[in-house]
Amino acid sequence: MTIQPIRLFGDPVLRTPADPVVDFDKELRKLVKDLTETLLDQQGAGLAAPQLGVGLRLFVYDVDDVVGHLINPDLAFPDDEEQDGPEGCLSIPGVYVDTKRRMNVVAKGFNQHGDPVQVVGSGMLARCCQHETDHLDGVLFLDRLDAKRRKDAMKQIRAAEWYNPDAPPTVKVSPHSGVFGR
Ligand SMILES: [Zn+2]
Repeated sequence: MTIQPIRLFGDPVLRTPADPVVDFDKELRKLVKDLTETLLDQQGAGLAAPQLGVGLRLFVYDVDDVVGHLINPDLAFPDDEEQDGPEGCLSIPGVYVDTKRRMNVVAKGFNQHGDPVQVVGSGMLARCCQHETDHLDGVLFLDRLDAKRRKDAMKQIRAAEWYNPDAPPTVKVSPHSGVFGR
């Protein structure tokens, strides 16, 4: 088993911008495997390396039964269309708040062998790419909310069982639900 504990909101690693991947080596492939297995175990939509405490620019996703990964992602938006719907985060378990995102995304990057790849996503996959790339910049979905929604999110966080402002814990099992970020 290579399932790893997920860092929770409050852990400084989630606020630290990650470094680009330079070495496409065996260690990187192990990290992709750990991320993927942890994501599948948690039944989440996406997981970024900093959520396992690793400051590298890559994430894995599992959207519409397609499991993949993207390294050193670079996002572009082909149009101005937006979406608004529930979003969550494995590092903020049990908290779901409507979050505005772009509807369509073209994410360029590399696979674990260093080959250039492109993920073209709309809806959930586009939301996932934006959420996970934010993680690589030390940005959480809470930062994307307007003041009212952020207040609601913080209320949910403070009421959450796992939340301890003095000693941010890590958790391996988070509540599951039927929306993004399970
Ligand atoms: Zn997240």
